[in-house]
Amino acid sequence: MQVVLATHNAHKVAEIQAIIARVRPDIEVISYDGPEPVEDGITFAENALIKARTAAAHTGLIALADDSGASVDVLGGSPGVFSAYWAGHAKDDAANMLLLLDQLSDIKDPHRTAQYNSTIALVTPAGAEHTVEGVWPGRLATAPRGAGGFGYDPIFIPDGQDGDERTVAEWTAEEKNAVSHRARAFVALEPLLAGL
Ligand code: IMP
Repeated sequence: MQVVLATHNAHKVAEIQAIIARVRPDIEVISYDGPEPVEDGITFAENALIKARTAAAHTGLIALADDSGASVDVLGGSPGVFSAYWAGHAKDDAANMLLLLDQLSDIKDPHRTAQYNSTIALVTPAGAEHTVEGVWPGRLATAPRGAGGFGYDPIFIPDGQDGDERTVAEWTAEEKNAVSHRARAFVALEPLLAGL
């Protein structure tokens, strides 16, 4: 079975392909190459659905789209849906991360809590629509560390690692893809994929 993945973010495509290969190796993931919709929703679910609807309509295939971001508790959940362009529309990962660090410069542990969110939308050409969510809690480091991953990974330290203070950028791709917010959303998506 083929599904089209409605994202142009090469990091996300690689992560989602790796996650789908773990849970449904029989699914062939095709990258979407068509008109870009305007992502003008104010929730992860709205934006994920906007992207998946466009890809399903354009390709005639079942479409998946992820909308994701980092939500910081002391910032009331920001940058959230604005994570990709927190420092402006250049969508510059390093600038976004440095601005966020600056905004939190006076905030000390234990108040640097945050979470990664991923909402995945599945839309069929016949018009069926589903969304699932994955949340990965953690806290933000005070300076970037590590060279892996993308986005806010050099400052995101996941919870539950028992004294492991590595940022996600210091994790291997395999470690991240096993437990990330996207991996958690795909666990919730599995029953829907099984029913296709
Ligand atoms: P989207 O492509 O509009 O969903 O925006 C996603 C943005 O959220 C990215 O540009 C990153 O800034 C952030 N983000 C989402 N997932 C991750 C992740 O796994 N690591 C680091 N940053 C992420």
